[in-house]
Amino acid sequence: MDGGMPDAHCGIKERGILKNLFNEKEVQEFVAKYPTIPPELALRIYTSRLIGQDPDLVLHGGGNTSVKIRIKNIVGEEQEVLYVKGSGIDLATIEPLGFVGLELEPLRKLQNLKSLSDEEMENQLLIHKVSFSSPSPSVEALLHAFLPARYIDHAHADFILVLANQKGGEGCLKEALGPKIAIIPYLTPGLPLAQGVRERYEQNPGIEGVVVIHHGIFTFGEDARTSYERMICYVGRAEEYVKAKTEKKVFGSLRKDWIPPEDLASSLARLNQTVRGVCAFRSPGGQLRRFYVEVRNKEELVKASILQEARILCHSGVLTPDHVIRTKNLWAHIERIPAEDAELNQVVKEEVNAYTKVYDQNFFEQAKVKSFAREKLDPCPRIFLVAGVGIVALGFTRKEARVAADIAEHTLHVKLLANALGKYDPIVKSHIFDMEYWSLQQKKLARTSLSPLQGQVAVITGGGGAIGLGIADRLLAAGAVVVISDINEESLRKVYSVLAERYEGGLIENIIFDVTDYRAVEKAFQEISRRLGGIDILVPTAGVAHVAKVEDLDPEKLEQVIAVNLKGTFHVIKASIPIFRRQGTGGNIVVVSSKNVFDPGAAFGAYSASKAAAHQISKIAALELAELGVRVNLVNPDAIFGDEEVPSKLWELVGPERMKSRGLDPQGLREYYRQRNLLKVQVTAEHVGNAVVFFASEGTPTTGATLPVDGGIPAAFPR
Ligand SMILES: [Zn+2]
Repeated sequence: MDGGMPDAHCGIKERGILKNLFNEKEVQEFVAKYPTIPPELALRIYTSRLIGQDPDLVLHGGGNTSVKIRIKNIVGEEQEVLYVKGSGIDLATIEPLGFVGLELEPLRKLQNLKSLSDEEMENQLLIHKVSFSSPSPSVEALLHAFLPARYIDHAHADFILVLANQKGGEGCLKEALGPKIAIIPYLTPGLPLAQGVRERYEQNPGIEGVVVIHHGIFTFGEDARTSYERMICYVGRAEEYVKAKTEKKVFGSLRKDWIPPEDLASSLARLNQTVRGVCAFRSPGGQLRRFYVEVRNKEELVKASILQEARILCHSGVLTPDHVIRTKNLWAHIERIPAEDAELNQVVKEEVNAYTKVYDQNFFEQAKVKSFAREKLDPCPRIFLVAGVGIVALGFTRKEARVAADIAEHTLHVKLLANALGKYDPIVKSHIFDMEYWSLQQKKLARTSLSPLQGQVAVITGGGGAIGLGIADRLLAAGAVVVISDINEESLRKVYSVLAERYEGGLIENIIFDVTDYRAVEKAFQEISRRLGGIDILVPTAGVAHVAKVEDLDPEKLEQVIAVNLKGTFHVIKASIPIFRRQGTGGNIVVVSSKNVFDPGAAFGAYSASKAAAHQISKIAALELAELGVRVNLVNPDAIFGDEEVPSKLWELVGPERMKSRGLDPQGLREYYRQRNLLKVQVTAEHVGNAVVFFASEGTPTTGATLPVDGGIPAAFPR
């Protein structure tokens, strides 16, 4: 094999398109960082990450790399081991354990087989692992085994795909990449692709890589640097070729009938809520599956969404088979966002129904031809191209929605370039079906059992306080994505950082708004819908206290307490109703009320009266919202102190007064309240959170109910 420096003949460095990031100094540091693994593997990890970090080369677990190393086994015999990327593992952050060691010799023997079932291929890969605990190998492991090169790099690079998904693409690829890259037609991943690539290599062992039409590029070399630099070189050449040919081209013409919506922010929020609602479905197990939404609105995407051929772009299929499990093959297209909710609902429903009909039809056709007996997956679109908005992507988890959105962004970009160059010509339906329903592909998505609130968005007002923290923590643990909100930026940031230490970043959002200002509430809910799709669980927790006897109570002070505790609760409930209505998937409002509603205390009139009024309006909401499937329940906590990190603001305010009147220190005060309840427990914010999760999980058909979380105070028993 030619081990020469490919960048010398490619000239990529001088032209400076795609960056060659290989750095000798970094390599030495890298090898030193992993002293317990063979240096060949450390180098493999280093260049794998370089490839993984460039989204124009691979996206989210796409692509794969390998190295072959001679290693002594436990009885001292030397054997050749193929270290190949584990299935679904992200190259950008790969660690030694992300590679699977496989005995090379027995796998190589498979190359002369006529056929190999999916089950048997998987079995062969698993029985030849050198470490029991390593992950499942990449679905392209056989290709890595059959090719003799020591290092192999594989990517679904955008600019290669512009050419590989082009009518007459082979000619363009030859012209762009030169004679040292073999071009082969699409072959099914697994044994056929591995054999096809091997065959081409045997015909011409001087090649430096292979491009597989409709799929991607493989480069190889005897050392990590050569294989990596060949990747950069050839993708760089494709980029240069495409850019030169499309430089002065216009990317299609815009729709003449296009009128942008008057209020884009509100239109987008309404659209997301509607899309979420229309796409939600009941799984065979009976659980309502909701989606999270991710919006992408870069200028190029917005423009593409109002092209005359926008619908053709949506229906023209994925760039590479790997993407089908993330985005499905086709996209839905929304041509306008009507100002009326009923009309919007109809527009989205019609589009989704048409989409699912085509999906189902295709499934049954393909399943019949292929005598395929497995169950059909859900037929919901994952990507919407929305006129004037851009891309709206859906996922069962927030991560899935983001992955789908990233892939869709690149897909649209590649399709536009391909059409500017000639005509985008993707992989055929039959192959797409094989990939979508390939058991090994589906395993990439296989996940453990569903958490009770997965797919739901919970919004907590007063999220900067101790109770807000406890509720957020419990809702996150139950699988919801949680938005904490507060008017106080500092305390909100504090709670956010506490939660971010416990849970993945993407699961928590924060937003500042004032519950006493109805317009601000509406705007904040719009923003939440833009970020996540809508709201399923609303937990009004924001509250303020004021200590004064009626005789001394300043009327203005009373107004202020009412503004937060009563009006604030009313505002957020009211603003959530149109969202619940558009989603049409029910929901839960769990109002954090107070033990004082049933058992008020002297000098606490402003607080108790405003909480009692909020309590009443919540019950009225329960009466009115049942028809939407929205349940409104209340939690009555008592004596929540919080901890040192996030103390209860209410207790910071009323505590000293209470301590004085009872002649106690802070510890004594906590103990006093513990002894006051029947169960003799200290009530915590997490207890309140558990009550919220109980209602939100809908284990009982309950609405309009009050659940005390107070350790048992007879005078505060609900009645
Ligand atoms: Zn691939």
